[in-house]
Amino acid sequence: MKILNYSKEHIEFRKKARAFMEKEIIPNIQEWEAAHDFPRDVWYRLGEAGLLCATIPVEYGGTGRDLLYDVIVAEELLRADSSCGGGVVLHSWITTPYIAVFGSEEQKKKYLPKCVSGECIAAVGMTEPDAGSDLTSITTTAVEDGDDVIINGTKIFISCGICCGVVVLAARDPEIENPYKALSLYLVEEGTPGFTKGVKYDKMGLHTQDTGELIFTDCRIPKTSMLGKKGEGFKMLMLELQQERLSIAIMALGTAEHVLEETIEHYKKPSSKYVIPKTQVNQFAIAEMATDIKMQRLFLDKLIEEHMAGSNIVVETSMAKYKMTELARDVCDRCIDLHGDFGTTEACIAVKSLLDVRSMSIFAGTNEIMRQIISKFMKL
Ligand SMILES: Cc1cc2nc3c(=O)[nH]c(=O)nc-3n(C[C@H](O)[C@H](O)[C@H](O)COP(=O)(O)OP(=O)(O)OC[C@H]3O[C@@H](n4cnc5c(N)ncnc54)[C@H](O)[C@@H]3O)c2cc1C
Repeated sequence: MKILNYSKEHIEFRKKARAFMEKEIIPNIQEWEAAHDFPRDVWYRLGEAGLLCATIPVEYGGTGRDLLYDVIVAEELLRADSSCGGGVVLHSWITTPYIAVFGSEEQKKKYLPKCVSGECIAAVGMTEPDAGSDLTSITTTAVEDGDDVIINGTKIFISCGICCGVVVLAARDPEIENPYKALSLYLVEEGTPGFTKGVKYDKMGLHTQDTGELIFTDCRIPKTSMLGKKGEGFKMLMLELQQERLSIAIMALGTAEHVLEETIEHYKKPSSKYVIPKTQVNQFAIAEMATDIKMQRLFLDKLIEEHMAGSNIVVETSMAKYKMTELARDVCDRCIDLHGDFGTTEACIAVKSLLDVRSMSIFAGTNEIMRQIISKFMKL
């Protein structure tokens, strides 16, 4: 059963991406994990290999390929390690597209080639201490002053917040009360006076994806740094959420598939150190997980196809985001049990992957918010 049609070119690209992971990522991942780092030069190598931002058009330095190429990169990164895909997927699927979709010609020419080459990593700053699920509570201000805008406020838990070269920042005009009309998006570059990077969070997993704090104190940027139209920030954030949540579903299901594959491998070819007993209980556990994964894979591939065709599948991607992040967590948890004693050690892939997927139910909209979107759609 197959939904997505990968062409010969896609298959060749997958081989190339896998070879890159085997050479550049897999041999180093343990060292990076221990150091909680994803070295800056790896971004350049990803860029050189054509593995960043596949959909960016040729005139802006990209290859103008279809989204399946970005799907392949996400899947191959996850096969290499369940943590290191996060920042790259965010950059290619979520943050750079804001500039590609809403940027002026000048902004696209300035930033997109650097995003494709890995020279500039893009982050998106929405969350604040009192504004997580509810973005209407954003208090970071953007006040116009002649040809400039002055930004004040703090953003927290921003992916690639520490390594980013530019941030797509959501800030409000304090003069406008209606929160849906008060928000605008701005491109703020690293090094702008008044923009500092704060804490790098010590997360339970996703160690090779930095998550940090961004602080803006009388940060003056030109008005031309506004992304899209004034007052349309909320609308733009909502428009990009479908792709963002789809990318999280892809990472979650990809992790579940990989952990189960590795577990089955150990079950079939036990090592001299540990064996997964061939009992019916263990066979049924594997059969149940394989069934859930297969059914969700078909749903996910259908969503990728519909998304690429431009369909509105906001509700379905919300379903996929919550269900697949929960499936990934359950699969890791059950595989830990299957591995027995070895499943309590950090060397077990299910342990590391559980820590990496655990926060996926929180970011890109919590799973409660996903259920709220579905309930609203169902007019419950
Ligand atoms: C690893 C990681 C990476 C992140 N990356 C980014 C990033 O790049 N950019 C960015 O802007 N943000 C990022 N975030 C922040 C993330 O989007 C927020 O953490 C998330 O939106 C939740 O916000 P909050 O922590 O304020 O929780 P809250 O909104 O305070 O929610 C707390 C609890 O209450 C529940 N809840 C809240 N409102 C409702 C409701 N209306 N109905 C039912 N339940 C509700 C939630 O489901 C949750 O269980 C990241 C977070 C993490 C952990």
